[in-house]
Amino acid sequence: MPYGDAVTSSSGEPQTTFTDLGLREDLLRALATQGYEEPTPIQAAAIPVLRTGADVVGQAATGTGKTAAFALPILDGLSAPGTDRRPAALVLVPTRELALQVSQAFHAYGRDLGARLVAVYGGAPARHQIEALRRGVDVVVATPGRALDLMDRGALQVDAVRTVVLDEADEMLEMGFIEDIESILSRTPKDRQTVLFSATMPKRIAALADRHLRDPQRISIASQESVADEVPRVRQTSYVVTRSTKAAALGRILDAEDPKAAIVFCRTRGGVDELTDQLTAQGYQAEALHGGLTQEQRDRVMGRLRTGATEILVATDVAARGLDIDRLTHVVNYDLPVSPEAYVHRIGRVGRAGREGVAISLVEPRERRLLAAIEKLLRGRIPTAPMPTAADVRSMRLQRTREAVEDLLADDESRERLEAYREAVESLLEEFDLLDVSLAAFALGHEATQGTADASDDVDFAPPAEQRSRADRKGRASDQAAAFDKAGKGKKKNRLDVPSERLFVSVGRSKGITPADLLGALTGETDLKGRDIGAITVHETYSLVEVPEKLARKAVKSLNRCSIKGHRVKVRLDRGR
Ligand code: AMP
Repeated sequence: MPYGDAVTSSSGEPQTTFTDLGLREDLLRALATQGYEEPTPIQAAAIPVLRTGADVVGQAATGTGKTAAFALPILDGLSAPGTDRRPAALVLVPTRELALQVSQAFHAYGRDLGARLVAVYGGAPARHQIEALRRGVDVVVATPGRALDLMDRGALQVDAVRTVVLDEADEMLEMGFIEDIESILSRTPKDRQTVLFSATMPKRIAALADRHLRDPQRISIASQESVADEVPRVRQTSYVVTRSTKAAALGRILDAEDPKAAIVFCRTRGGVDELTDQLTAQGYQAEALHGGLTQEQRDRVMGRLRTGATEILVATDVAARGLDIDRLTHVVNYDLPVSPEAYVHRIGRVGRAGREGVAISLVEPRERRLLAAIEKLLRGRIPTAPMPTAADVRSMRLQRTREAVEDLLADDESRERLEAYREAVESLLEEFDLLDVSLAAFALGHEATQGTADASDDVDFAPPAEQRSRADRKGRASDQAAAFDKAGKGKKKNRLDVPSERLFVSVGRSKGITPADLLGALTGETDLKGRDIGAITVHETYSLVEVPEKLARKAVKSLNRCSIKGHRVKVRLDRGR
């Protein structure tokens, strides 16, 4: 293939920022709103080249951030968005689903620019699409068949197109779009920029590039073979999950795995915040760590993780860089990393000093290729496991209690501790059968350490067929709500036996505050009854109070209006942020 210079990048190198890429201010702002903390490797490599106007052949799978890699330079290069009636860019994609996804991405990045986007695809009436095109458009995202059809009808004009993108070119070829693509390309201006992205590079793609691209730069993410040698001793498992049941699936997996301390990776700040809230609602001690936190907030979060007050850290890659915590037992890729090397960096956080760690990856059906790229770098398979069932979780919990009892009996020192209970047990034996007493004691111990709640029973975690109708998707949205409700039932037990929130109260020991003062204020000034109030901890300068989630917000409101022991207080929900 007569390509120009190879441009490669990898996540192991010093990080480029979006500002380094020279993108305009309104795009940088949009990216910050998206919660993107830095460019992915394919973005860092492709954006500067595309901004020069060169043709590009990029090898990248879904999940690597390839959409932004071409969308950002296109938006950046629009000279007068919102003015010309004819599109300046045409993006061809294989499916309607991808057309919507790509146009949503353009829309999100281009919102401050006033760029106009239209997605056109088969299987929907052409009328609305034609009207939208007539109103004027900067970027059209289209499936090839519909694009050609609209060109024939004169609704889609391509004579002002400066950039054409062939996204997921291998898929388009698979689907038999080659002739449509060739015909579309031949009708666009000869001096256009042509960009081809494909997860794989079979010969037919190379031939297509040879025919239609001019001296293209080849961009791929170089695999750092050496990285594979750094893979620590880690038990790796993947689960195929749909986006809609992902949070519930994670809850189920955490219940099964029972990590002592886990780090869960998300791609964006928004993703981190959302998942932290969902996990907290499911009863986990989860905290968020991302680039939006101050150093002080970050130190507090890390402190709580080190002491064990927090069991799950939800983080972006950037925020977790340089993080070194011995207690970590599990790494969870809630979102797959954007490059295979980043996977190795992530899982390197466990399995230190000869201890075995666990790495879990949640893979959406569309991301299987990215998983395959990771496996290629690791030179090994990451086994895909079926989701643990509710019965599996129950039996794993029982097994844990059983092992704890076994350990207690096997250890001489612990046995001495048991003597303190001999009299109490012997008195029970006068009245009850030995086995019954053991069962009751086991139940108490089990429930105290593992909770009484069962894992969500009938959430359907099965991945869907690849293509779905709109009606089907609607159905999935309500499944999602059901999935969360059910997952809610599996909430860990806390002292209150119901989902709870912690309130932060801005006074503590230094102001002479005692738990009784807080209890008095809570029952006197809010609707809370004594039985609604869980653990109260009074610290030097602040206090924490556990209350039922349902009553928390109202209690915050009422308490903010009152004084405790003559001190005005500030009260808020304590989310560690
Ligand atoms: P794609 O490979 O284009 O399908 O993108 C995969 C996902 O990564 C999408 O959900 C994007 O919103 C997200 N994404 C793209 N670029 C970044 C970035 N620089 N940082 C974080 N997430 C990103």
